[in-house]
This record gives sequence, C-alpha cells and structure tokens, in this order.
Amino acid sequence: MDLYEYQGKQVFARFGIPVSEGRLATTPEEARAAAEEIGGQVVVKAQVLTGGRGKAGGIKLAEGPADAEAKARDILGLDIRGHVVRKLWIEQASDIAKEYYLSITFDRGTKKPLYMLTTEGGIEIEQVAEENPDALARLHVDPFEGFQPYQARRLIYGAGIEDLNEQKQILGIIEKLYRCFVESDAMLCEINPLIVTPAGEVRALDSKFTVDDSALFRHPDIAEMRDVEAADPHERLAREKGVTYVKLDGEVGILGNGAGLVMSTLDVIALAGGKPANFCDLGGGGDAQGVTDALEIISADPQVKSILFNIFGGITRCDEVARGILQALERIEIDEPIVVRFDGTNAEEARRLIAEADRGELHVEPTMLDAAKRAVELAA
Ligand code: GDP
Ligand code: MN
Repeated sequence: MDLYEYQGKQVFARFGIPVSEGRLATTPEEARAAAEEIGGQVVVKAQVLTGGRGKAGGIKLAEGPADAEAKARDILGLDIRGHVVRKLWIEQASDIAKEYYLSITFDRGTKKPLYMLTTEGGIEIEQVAEENPDALARLHVDPFEGFQPYQARRLIYGAGIEDLNEQKQILGIIEKLYRCFVESDAMLCEINPLIVTPAGEVRALDSKFTVDDSALFRHPDIAEMRDVEAADPHERLAREKGVTYVKLDGEVGILGNGAGLVMSTLDVIALAGGKPANFCDLGGGGDAQGVTDALEIISADPQVKSILFNIFGGITRCDEVARGILQALERIEIDEPIVVRFDGTNAEEARRLIAEADRGELHVEPTMLDAAKRAVELAA
C-alpha cells in the first residue's frame, strides 16, 4: 500500500524525522484557511500516488492565503499521469540551500534493506544512478544485526557530506528512518528531497512510503490511511470480497487458479491476438461462492467482452470449479460468453458437468491455446 506524501510525513514525524508543518485541504477555500493558520509563504502540494508532481505543475509556492486559494484552484482537478488531484497538502514553505536524497528499500537480490544517500537530490534517483553513480552511497543492513551507527557515518562519508552540523542531523535521520522502515513493515521509505535550509536545518520535504500489504493487519492506523475513493471501484469490491483482481486494458476477462497459471494465460491471450481486460486469481477457492465473487467482479468491468476460465486441477478439483461455475450462473446474470478449459484433477468429470448443463453461454475447449483463441474470437 502506497501512502500519500502527507501520510508518509505523518509517519516520519512519529519517528522523530523532522518535517514541515502543514494542513490538508480539499477545496480552494480550505487551502486559504490552511494558509491563514500557517502564516507566511506556503507550498500548495497535489496529493496523488505518483511522483514527479513538481514537473507536472502539481506543486506551487504561494505568497499568502489569497494566493494559496488561487494556486489550489489551479491544481485541484489536474490530471497527473492518470491521477486526478482531489487533495492538497498546504505546507509552510521552506527556504532551500541544498537538496539531498535518502531512502531505504528492500534489495531482493541480497535479501537485505538497502540505504541510498546522495547529495544529488531533487531529481529522480534512477537518473542519478545512471548519470552519476559515484555520487550515490549505497549500504546494506543485516536485518539480524540491525542498524549500527557506523553505517550512518559510512553513508555520510560515502555521499561526501562534509559539514559537521549537517552530518550530525543526517546521522540522526538515517537511524530514525531505519526504525521507521522496520517498525512500519515498509517496503520503501524515500525522502527526496531531504533539504538543508540556509540556516543549516535538515528536513524531509517529500515522502514516498510503501507498506507491505501482508503486514497491514499489524498496523491498523496505517491501514486506515487507505483512500478508498481513489481506488478503482472494482478493485475495491475485490478487496472487500478477498479476491485477487487486477484491472488491465483489453477485452477478455480472465479467471485462473494460481498466479503462475494466470500470468501464462495473459501471455496466451496475447499470442492469440487479444488483450486481457482484467484478471482474477481464484487461488485455491473454486467453490461456488469464490467463483460467484470472481465472476461478479470480472463481469462488472464494462470493457469485458468475453471471459476465459483457465483451471488446472491439483488440490483444487476441476469438477468442484465446474459446479461452482454452474451455481454462480444460477445466482448472477452474466451477459458475456464464457470459455472454459479444464486440465488436471477431475477434468473429464468437469467437462461432462458443463456439457450436461447445456448452457449456451458456456464454451468448453480442450487446450489453453484453443480456449484463448476462442475467447479472443468471441470478444471481437
Ligand atoms: P515531487 O515532484 O512529486 O517529487 O514533489 P516534491 O515534494 O519533491 O517537490 C518537488 C520540488 O518542489 C522540490 O524538489 C523542491 O525543489 C520544490 N519544493 C517543494 N517544497 C518546497 C518548499 O517548501 N520551498 C521551496 N522553495 N521549494 C519547494
Ligand atoms: Mn520528491
């Protein structure tokens, strides 16, 4: 789960990482009131779950309340790479002398948290890594040993931060960020930019914060931060029903059991000349309720023109899924043709059940490729 900038900063603040004072606003009037309370110059910042807002015109300095209202009017409703701005963070403006970058993420290769620190902040870290890799200090932390203060010093020297006053503050922030990362079950905590003000004060001016979905049950306060309105309504329905669902762009709805099978089904649809509209992973749940939930979510997407069921029976028995499909069709009305392919445990029994039911909307195909071709044909 990705947090908005302001939410990430709220979590930072809990761990003692310095951030600027700010207020949330959803209307130009609220932005004005927030600027009045904060006083002086403020920054009006679009809250969307994507980066590069500055370049897209989603971040603007305002001289005072009236200006903040005007800037809020410009930014609200803006489309930043498919994310429409509905929330603003009004923050006390900072004077910036330097922009640094600090993050912790998981390095899957070494299975360890990885720190990155550079004085080349304010721009995308990928760009720094490509154009000026020597400027990027990287350091792994052994999760069993935990953070050690010498590691922060090594990072600071590696990045070439020479000012003693900055070193002292950044040392503290590096240590706090590790606690923040571990105790929040985060996958990424990124501060870009980490600024130094002309007075020498170091502060987190932005946050990118991703929390491991599987650990959210341990963090009800963070789970609560999820913006249900911003989510795709079908993805929301899927989450409520506990179904794995992903929205895509084509016209064939896909249901499979198991992530690997679903991924290969997407490929086979492409091979057959079609495009997947979405997919659901039934996992081990082939019972009537599981199938009904998945079918309901798949078919609620208006882009779906045909549905492909690809089931490989193992522990999940094909006949159980076949019964699930038939019962689901009794419960809900599906307008799109459904192609089914069964293989593995009790596949023959499953095909017999579907044949006996003699439903016009159900098409049985013997192989994955045949099924994909049929589904693409029916979607055309
Ligand atoms: P991003 O573009 O989505 O990464 O958003 P950021 O929060 O990182 O802001 C982008 C840029 O806006 C920063 O790198 C700063 O240069 C600038 N900016 C943001 N807040 C302030 C501020 O308080 N004062 C000044 N002077 N510039 C700011
Ligand atoms: Mn940023």
